[in-house]
Order: sequence, then C-alpha cells, then structure tokens
Amino acid sequence: MPSFRDSDRNPDRAVEPRPRVSEAAPPRAASAVHVIDVDGLAVRVARKPIKNMYLRVTPPSGDVVVSAPTRIADAQIEAFVRQRRDWVVRQRRRIAEARGTTASGPGDPSAEVWTPERRRAAADAINAQLPALLAHWGPIIGRTPTHITLRTMTTRWGSCTPRTGRIRLNLQLGLMEPRFLEYVLVHEMTHLWASGHGVEFQRRMSRYLPQWRQLRRELNRRAAV
Ligand SMILES: [Zn+2]
Repeated sequence: MPSFRDSDRNPDRAVEPRPRVSEAAPPRAASAVHVIDVDGLAVRVARKPIKNMYLRVTPPSGDVVVSAPTRIADAQIEAFVRQRRDWVVRQRRRIAEARGTTASGPGDPSAEVWTPERRRAAADAINAQLPALLAHWGPIIGRTPTHITLRTMTTRWGSCTPRTGRIRLNLQLGLMEPRFLEYVLVHEMTHLWASGHGVEFQRRMSRYLPQWRQLRRELNRRAAV
C-alpha cells in the first residue's frame, strides 16, 4: 500500500470546504483507495480521516493522488483536481523530463520515449482500427466526431470538445490492447451527448459498454507517457 503523506513541498496545498458531517460521522475506513476519472485524468483517491484535501503527483509514473476527507463527495474531489489541472500537467512534465535524463534499461518505463518510428507505429495502429470502430459505434451512439486528432498526452487518454465535435486520442493507445482504444473512443463519443461524467454520461456508457468501469480501472492503472 503506497503511503499518501501530505507533502510539504506541494505548493498547491489547498483548503477545501469541510463536509458538514465529517467530524461526527465515523470514517468508512482508515484509508480506502479508489480511482476516479477527471476529464480523462486518472486520479487515485485515498480516503482518510483528515480535514482538508491534498493533491500530489508522484514519480516515477506521474500518478495523481488526492488525499481526501472520508465523507467528501467525488464531485468535490473532481472539482478540486479540475481547478489544479495546469499544476498537475506541469508536475507531470517535470517528472517526465527528470525521467528522460536518467539512464534506463529495457523494461524500464523511462525507456518509453516517442521516437519517430514509435509515433508512426502508434498512429498506423489507431488509423487501422478507427474506420471499423466508427462504423460500429456511430450508429449505436448516434453521434460521430467531426475530427479525430492523435497526439501524445501525458495526462489524458482522450478529450472531446462537444461544441465542435472534435475528439483527441492519446497516441499511446495505438501501442496498447485494442479494447482500450475502443473504450476511450466510446467514452469521448459519449461526451458528444454529455459533457461531464454525471448521471447521463454514466447511463449512456453502461448502455454502450456495460464493462466500461472495469476498462477504465484497467486503463487508469497504466501511466501515459
Ligand atoms: Zn471524459
């Protein structure tokens, strides 16, 4: 079990409004960890009997970890992370840069750098799968993206701008099992109906891909590079 000590070096320590019941209610568990999705960003949440929320980005993988009071709502944690997204991106970039300067061997995550060949292989793999995926999911979801762009992203597997119908997919999905590309595409296409991850989004995802929560869990265990 990783430790979730609050770091004094974290410049973004912030005080969050305390849930009204937090002190009177017994904690659900001394430290329960689960993963939530904040706009495609996997955030590990450690529930603890503490008063404030703390955000950390941990090396070497750049995992995003929030220590949160036991009874606070996921929606509040999401808002907390969303407000600090730029900071998270900066931290991850710093970690990735530091990783890039260290010696690495095969199997070392830091060996995964984007060479032109790797980039091409990933893009080819995604482009080979997209037509069939769109032909399958377009009619089911009932909306299709206007543009799909592929790019390397360190904090997201995908993103969607519902207003313009644009979807961005993390290039790394091309180097992973096809089911992850499918999940992220369906996730982003679902945002063409529902911009957040609320009830409407979840209802649709469960209809399209009943196993989507499991896929999300699996995907969130992997770090984007
Ligand atoms: Zn999303």
